[in-house]
Amino acid sequence: MAELINCPACGNQVSNQAPSCPNCGNPIATETTGVQSIQATGKSLKLQQLLSSVTTIIGLFMVFGGMPSDGGEPSGGFAVGVILLLGGFVWFAYARFMTWWRHG
Ligand SMILES: [Zn+2]
Repeated sequence: MAELINCPACGNQVSNQAPSCPNCGNPIATETTGVQSIQATGKSLKLQQLLSSVTTIIGLFMVFGGMPSDGGEPSGGFAVGVILLLGGFVWFAYARFMTWWRHG
């Protein structure tokens, strides 16, 4: 969508679709590309949120599945589950934070 923006170099009003500012020649279209890459980043952050929540859930199942019953040693899956659970949770928190940071 074309809209008038202020040229970052000289402040002249210029269409954001223009390849460069007609007043000073500062490239404008790169600004639009920058916005598109932020949208792409937002998409990848959504994917990261999805992957991290799946990782957390898998970790949760492994922790409960490998939980030592009658006071015995926890199975190897338990330790892996804890790592997945913590890692997934931190990853999810990071993705949530980055989403909020960019869109909030
Ligand atoms: Zn300009």
